[in-house]
Amino acid sequence: MGDNRKILVVGGGISGLTAAVEAAEAGAEVVVVERKPYLGGRVSQFNHYFPKLCPPACGLEINFRRIKNNPAISYHTLATVESISGGPGNYEVNVTIQPRFVNDNCTGCGECAKVCSTEIPNPHDYGMGNVKAAYLPHPMAFPFKYVIDPSIVGTDEGKACADACAYGAVDLAMQPATLTFSVGAIVWATGWAPYDATKVDYLGLGKYPDVVTSVMFERLAAADGPTGGKILRPSDGKEAKSVAFVQCAGSRDENHLPYCSGVCCLASLKQATYVREQYPDSKAYIYYIDVRAMGKYEDFYTKVDQDENVTLIKSKIARVSQAPSGGLLLEGEDIVNGGKVKQVVDLVVLAVGMVPGTAAVKPELPMEYDDFGFVVSSGASGIVPAGCVKAPMEVAASVQDATAAALKALQCAMGR
Ligand SMILES: Cc1cc2nc3c(=O)[nH]c(=O)nc-3n(C[C@H](O)[C@H](O)[C@H](O)COP(=O)(O)OP(=O)(O)OC[C@H]3O[C@@H](n4cnc5c(N)ncnc54)[C@H](O)[C@@H]3O)c2cc1C
Repeated sequence: MGDNRKILVVGGGISGLTAAVEAAEAGAEVVVVERKPYLGGRVSQFNHYFPKLCPPACGLEINFRRIKNNPAISYHTLATVESISGGPGNYEVNVTIQPRFVNDNCTGCGECAKVCSTEIPNPHDYGMGNVKAAYLPHPMAFPFKYVIDPSIVGTDEGKACADACAYGAVDLAMQPATLTFSVGAIVWATGWAPYDATKVDYLGLGKYPDVVTSVMFERLAAADGPTGGKILRPSDGKEAKSVAFVQCAGSRDENHLPYCSGVCCLASLKQATYVREQYPDSKAYIYYIDVRAMGKYEDFYTKVDQDENVTLIKSKIARVSQAPSGGLLLEGEDIVNGGKVKQVVDLVVLAVGMVPGTAAVKPELPMEYDDFGFVVSSGASGIVPAGCVKAPMEVAASVQDATAAALKALQCAMGR
């Protein structure tokens, strides 16, 4: 093995970004490949982070600055790994870059979007609401560059977007490209996806518009989300002043995800604060099997629980249905007090578990997987997993794990 201090990071979420900056600041040259048009991963879709309840920008911004200021880090968006060959110390990786149809001249002025009328479902908002086919992925996007959706390439509208750009940034002739990198080690940080809770049919996702998932709720509460940050019922735009959070929506269930994702209880506690802060006369109900708020997060749980308008009920919800009087009816067992739970609310939020990016398709790489698709290998092969691709974890744990992964990758790259 040689001393190839170049490291490839696959996945530009908080884990991949952390691994990239840590490895680069320790002397490596780093290339990040991210399949979306921007860096930041799922964190960029949050309204606030627990436990401090600050906006995602406060964690991401500093990493973007470290990347911008460090010439040893390069990154490619709309990029995926096509093939990997070689071994620790000398991997060769082919990466395919899909065309953005916008080049580096883009200033983010938005003139292209002004002449575009075609709309597509907004991927950043989980399809709630639309975005123009010439779009900035979100207001804090890094890189701060527009994207032209392939659906308008080759049309008069696409041409109008190009003509509207005073900087020559819209390039409709862009083609997919393949880049080859020789690297000493690879950090695999492809993260997680929310469990598809439409499979838990008795909870009503996909049947009732006012049943949403926890990840969708982040967007409903976010100022740059589909409702401008107002927590409104999707069905009729009414203010959602009574909100039920259903924990373990598919989790800890042999028919769905047998494991606990560990962060969902904290996410629902956090989301209850969104409701309570927005509407002083609101009520939040959290239906849980067990509240998992380990270690330092116990204080956060206690603080939210002290609000008398946040009610935690130990119950497994067995059914969500349309209430005859309007709203949604939740039914289940009240495990502590006995009897039945029957509660009508404006909005139901399903706390969905985290599924690793490697669950659906396992890359044919020297990595080992557990039964659920999480990567469990140590990284001795020079392909080092980091963050939620290994196990569900919150941001602080992801950052710690990615820092350790950067060190492991450096050791592998240098043949130590
Ligand atoms: C509802 C909910 C709320 C949460 N709220 C909080 C919170 O308030 N505070 C907190 O600490 N934690 C929270 N978490 C946990 C937090 O989301 C994770 O800790 C964090 O997203 C982990 O980051 P990651 O980089 O490992 O994964 P991700 O954020 O998933 O990033 C992975 C990146 O890899 C990219 N990628 C995937 N596959 C490929 C590929 N093949 N090639 C290239 N790129 C690829 C993805 O596009 C993505 O950008 C929450 C989780 C949930 C479910």
